[in-house]
Amino acid sequence: MKNIFFMFHKLKKTLLDLFFPLRCVACKKEGAWICKNCLNRLSLRQIQTCPICKSRPRDFGEVCDFCHGKSNLNGIFVVAESHQQVLRQLIHKFKYNFCQEVSINLAELILRNFSQHFLSTENLILIPVPLHPKRERWRGFNQSALLSSLLGSYSNMLTLKNVLLRTRHTKSQMKLKRQQRLRNLEDAFLVHGQLDSKSTYILLDDIVTTGATLEACAKALRAAGARQVWGLALSRGT
Ligand SMILES: [Zn+2]
Ligand SMILES: [Zn+2]
Repeated sequence: MKNIFFMFHKLKKTLLDLFFPLRCVACKKEGAWICKNCLNRLSLRQIQTCPICKSRPRDFGEVCDFCHGKSNLNGIFVVAESHQQVLRQLIHKFKYNFCQEVSINLAELILRNFSQHFLSTENLILIPVPLHPKRERWRGFNQSALLSSLLGSYSNMLTLKNVLLRTRHTKSQMKLKRQQRLRNLEDAFLVHGQLDSKSTYILLDDIVTTGATLEACAKALRAAGARQVWGLALSRGT
């Protein structure tokens, strides 16, 4: 069933490319969803903040001394400035319009900012935030897993898929505040097996809003033995 869906999708895409060539979402130049120039023009986030109080500037987005103990995460690193319309369009195309080619551009963007800060750390292991299998079937792919695989192939990071599992379908988080989201996500994630206490785990998600999903995932990772757990997101949601 899944194969038929992909074949149909591929055929549809080939026909669309033939009659409606891809155009850069920013300058409309033909050839890709974003051209090199416009990709280079996207602003990377230079000043990270503590993910809990969201006010104190931090080098890597680590939890500040005042918020210490309030999170299972060491910190959350956000790659690009979130106000950028072009970036939002790209993420939307990637997630909802099945434009998987965009993942290469997004992976490039992540490496450009994140690698400067983290790639000297040894034993980095990427773990994509899982979707519930029902949602993954509906979408056809997990956007974070796709990005993780690409990042793994471009860098020294290992990618672990199918280790962190989503055990429960949770109701939509859209209108919920952080505390409500945390309750909604309680025990929604589970780690299959034991994790290594000496590795640094990076939880990858496309957009971080309140941080509750990353927090719930981090709790599961720690329960399985992880000691260093970071969040990594392309952008902040509103
Ligand atoms: Zn362009
Ligand atoms: Zn803080």
